[in-house]
Amino acid sequence: MKQKKKQMELVQLQNQILQCRLCQEDFGFEPHPVIQGNSGAKIMQISQAPSKKVHETGRPFDDASGKKLRKEWYGISDEDFYNPNCFYIVSMAHCYPGKSPNGGDRRPPKICSRQWLLKEMSLVENEIYIIIGSYAAEFFFPGQKITALAFENKQINGKPAYILPHPSPLNMKWFKDYPEFTNTRVLEIRKAVHQVLGISESC
Ligand code: SF4
Repeated sequence: MKQKKKQMELVQLQNQILQCRLCQEDFGFEPHPVIQGNSGAKIMQISQAPSKKVHETGRPFDDASGKKLRKEWYGISDEDFYNPNCFYIVSMAHCYPGKSPNGGDRRPPKICSRQWLLKEMSLVENEIYIIIGSYAAEFFFPGQKITALAFENKQINGKPAYILPHPSPLNMKWFKDYPEFTNTRVLEIRKAVHQVLGISESC
């Protein structure tokens, strides 16, 4: 019953988020909020912001970064990744923020996490968190370097939290500088993901 109520509240909240246009003036184009997941999702994955491709398709991590994340790091099928009872997929900003003058994507607007993300976190009964990228890591673990965080078992709201560098091809140098992440740490995180999802069973 409690779970049903949370799911109903979450659906209402998601409908509000999907209609949100708070950043339209700042972006200079119509925002396209992207969310996936149910309140019973076992893993809450929080990253930086959707890419331009995701802005266009509306499907989270439907890009080169997502492919690396699912196949090389989590070692799971697209079906499991896009199952809303397995993953709640969200970002510090729900919308692609546009390009910055230096060529990369702009930083996510701070208003989004204050306005929406914290409410979503209170309605999702996930077992573990996965935090992706330095921007999201800084929000949850201020002042701590992602290079250290990526190798530590942390907690958020009393639940296990794993921190990943962004799987973007632009991060290639970091992966080369820290091969122990790919060779060792990824295997530990994959094991945690598989355990939570009961990967041989249906979740
Ligand atoms: S980024 Fe967040 S606050 Fe801004 S328009 Fe999108 S949903 Fe709204």
